[in-house]
Amino acid sequence: MKNSKQSNRERYKKWYEANKEQARKKKRENMRRYRAENPTKYAEQSRKAKRKIRDQLFDIYGDTCKECGFDDKRALTLDHIQNNGNVERKELGERGVYQRARDNYLPNEYQILCMNCQFIKKVETQKQNQHLHGNY
Ligand SMILES: [Zn+2]
Repeated sequence: MKNSKQSNRERYKKWYEANKEQARKKKRENMRRYRAENPTKYAEQSRKAKRKIRDQLFDIYGDTCKECGFDDKRALTLDHIQNNGNVERKELGERGVYQRARDNYLPNEYQILCMNCQFIKKVETQKQNQHLHGNY
């Protein structure tokens, strides 16, 4: 009896080893199908996750624009103080940047700005860079 139990387990283990890749692939396919069949649901879920992480960021970095005090969250964004947002987004993705900013309090790297102030900052930075490089 003991032996046959043992061999069942062995057999299962062997089966699992042999089909591991297939089992994983199946799971991935199911996930992909779920997304394809429920695009709105999936989008809604990721929207919710994004909103949640944004709220967490406002808790950490403040929920008003650091420049002008604007406080409508719909127009507030996480600003990269050192203007390295594009590089970081390329590296980590938008979600990844949010997660990094949430999991590490980095007030020297991130701040909350409204869209207006962020736009103005961008223009000012461009002007400064042009001035520095002398091509205006
Ligand atoms: Zn502002």
